[in-house]
Amino acid sequence: MQKSIKKVGVLTSGGDSPGMNAAIRSVVRTCAYHNLECVGIYRGYQGMIEGDFIEMGPRSVNNIINKGGTILKSARSSEFRTPEGRKKAHENLVKEGIDALVVIGGDGSFTGALMFNSEFGFPVMGIPGTIDNDIFGTSHTLGYDTALNTVVDCIDKIRDTASSHNRLFFVEVMGRDAGHIALNAGIAGGAEEILIPEEDLGLDRLLESLQKSKASGKSSSIVVIAEGDKIGKNVFELKDYVEANLPEYDVRVSVLGHMQRGGTPSCFDRVLASRLGVKAVESLLDGVSNFMVGLKNDTVNLTPLVQAIKGKSEIDRELLRVSDIITT
Ligand code: ATP
Repeated sequence: MQKSIKKVGVLTSGGDSPGMNAAIRSVVRTCAYHNLECVGIYRGYQGMIEGDFIEMGPRSVNNIINKGGTILKSARSSEFRTPEGRKKAHENLVKEGIDALVVIGGDGSFTGALMFNSEFGFPVMGIPGTIDNDIFGTSHTLGYDTALNTVVDCIDKIRDTASSHNRLFFVEVMGRDAGHIALNAGIAGGAEEILIPEEDLGLDRLLESLQKSKASGKSSSIVVIAEGDKIGKNVFELKDYVEANLPEYDVRVSVLGHMQRGGTPSCFDRVLASRLGVKAVESLLDGVSNFMVGLKNDTVNLTPLVQAIKGKSEIDRELLRVSDIITT
């Protein structure tokens, strides 16, 4: 029988995302509500290996629900990828009396959590925190909604200057393997074309679309491009290519970069983080392990970590059609 849980460790791992602090707050306060102790682990798995812990009570998470980033810091730990590193981490958790772990991070962090569980039988629960929304089993990851709002705000601003100078702007957004940010922010920002990793638009079709757009009387245009799009050129090469083939266009590039990861979490992300934190701790108390808490049809649910890691978070193909129609 699984031993009863009295002390929960919480960490943030991989890329940070807005809403991680709200999730930490929720985990800490849910522990307090159920009379469990809670320990914050700094710098993800690296802090676990180094024993970098802090006792956390309800008052240690005052005034963080509105803050981007993560007060526990995040890290990518190569040592945790080794059996020796994980053994050290386990020894530290045992020494500290921690009985279960809540891991807030992406699929890499979940892979580490699963390995840790399989080696030591240690109860683990995942909360999806990444702006890319590329995790199977949840309609939204923490930070995705905030990142979308940030990107749309940037596109709106770029549109002001694009229309004042009759320019074409290529706006590169995050998303190496998933086009969720590009597709949704592109539609919301009124982009003429959206290039995503899931679909190869092709250079010819892009040129054709831009020509059509000019011919239809549009004087400025915005193309939103995900980092991992399949067009085969980086955004600067694409600019050169389009200018060489369509000299009537004056192209500018804006790479939004890390600003998409920062900032005050949106209301949606704060509420989501609060709900997921409660569910994570209460699931551990119910004896559940190796699952990720997530959202489906606005209901908090559990997905086995192994599925969350292996499954693909598909883009909504209907949105591609919507985008095609409304850019006419
Ligand atoms: P993001 O989506 O923002 O990149 P992530 O959680 O996927 O977040 P990773 O850097 O892939 O980020 O993983 C975070 C950490 O999880 C790694 O630094 C490593 O310590 C641990 N980890 C990842 N994969 C493994 C693995 N196969 N075995 C053990 N630990 C792993």
